[in-house]
Amino acid sequence: MDLTFNERELAFRDELRAWLETHEPGDEPADDTASYHWRREWQGRLHEGGWAAVHWPKEYGGRGAGVTESAIFYEELARARAPLPANALGILMGGPTLMLWGTDEQKDRFLEPILSGEEIWCQGFSEPEAGSDLAALKTRAVKDGDDWVVTGQKVWTSGAQYSKWCMLVARTDQDQPKHKGLTYFLMDMEQAEIQVRPLRQITGEAEFNELFIEGARIPDENVVGGVGNGWKVALTTLMNERAGLAFFLQVRLRQLLDELIEEAAARGLLEDPVVADRLGELHIKAEVLRLTAYRGLTVMEKYGQPGPEGSLTKWMWSETNQQLVQLAADLLGPEALTSGTRWSYELLRARGNSIEGGTTEILKNIVAERVLGLPRMR
Ligand SMILES: Cc1cc2nc3c(=O)[nH]c(=O)nc-3n(C[C@H](O)[C@H](O)[C@H](O)COP(=O)(O)OP(=O)(O)OC[C@H]3O[C@@H](n4cnc5c(N)ncnc54)[C@H](O)[C@@H]3O)c2cc1C
Repeated sequence: MDLTFNERELAFRDELRAWLETHEPGDEPADDTASYHWRREWQGRLHEGGWAAVHWPKEYGGRGAGVTESAIFYEELARARAPLPANALGILMGGPTLMLWGTDEQKDRFLEPILSGEEIWCQGFSEPEAGSDLAALKTRAVKDGDDWVVTGQKVWTSGAQYSKWCMLVARTDQDQPKHKGLTYFLMDMEQAEIQVRPLRQITGEAEFNELFIEGARIPDENVVGGVGNGWKVALTTLMNERAGLAFFLQVRLRQLLDELIEEAAARGLLEDPVVADRLGELHIKAEVLRLTAYRGLTVMEKYGQPGPEGSLTKWMWSETNQQLVQLAADLLGPEALTSGTRWSYELLRARGNSIEGGTTEILKNIVAERVLGLPRMR
């Protein structure tokens, strides 16, 4: 693909840059809840300016931005040190899933509050015994009149403590083979039958939660993509997760690397050939990642949906980010290991990179089978 910006793309970039200059997000508050409110308020401002989801079609409130404009959007957001909107899961995953599988009524009802941040979304897929092997999930939904009654447990549910809607995959037919008996629902989180328990992470934050669901109700009209079709709908959500987030994350990685180079320069470490070599390797990986992320966006533009290439970008990003923070620890020593410092946070948070959004082992399986066409293990 041609990576030079044309006039339209340059105009888009300049308009966004000008907007970001007059709408600074400010510094992120240290406290979890305050940080969430800060990101939600930021999303409201993006929405008012028409920037909440540039890649969404115009008919759904987006800008109908193409591949390069979407890339510019993420690059400029990261350049302005602006955060992802509070409802990133709704914008990147929930909205695109509804656009493909939802009914007209569902699109009318749900898309606008996703964009404005009025209703926050979370993803209720993983369970204690079903993470990588998602189709083994046991949460059950049983039909009762016009409703479904849900019982089960979810885990790792990011942002559930703030969410109004949960993209829930549940088993609706016990007699079907495991991938076939699943249904995708939109579950209202504001029910006494759902208990949300935050899980404290190694960083001290509680980004994700356990969900205990005992008889929560979901009306039939909140089934997405048809009863028994949950596996296919869930794959749409997962592929959008990898392709969408990967682009933002690769820009963040570039910034972090530039900061590390500055730190190393300030300590006179760039003269050390071993340090220069390790930083050089990271620079090359960051560039490869950037170009691969562009390729992923091209696939989306060509076929309308993300392809398995997003798995490759996500895998490369997590490996490179972990390598980067390890190098920071090697170069900065105790400073990077002292609790409460910027680099200690990055070092600890990066541990989850190779698990979240699909573990590296699973992503390698996907790349082997679906990108390279190697024979299946099973
Ligand atoms: C920060 C963070 C946020 C998250 N947010 C959410 C969220 O919002 N919603 C949600 O639903 N989930 C979320 N997750 C969960 C995440 O998707 C799961 O942790 C992930 O899918 C792995 O599942 P698991 O933890 O059950 O590990 P397991 O599936 O039990 O895997 C354990 C180990 O075995 C390996 N393994 C398993 N199967 C295979 C195989 N076939 N071949 C090779 N190796 C294999 C895995 O790679 C891993 O190393 C989040 C996770 C993190 C870290």
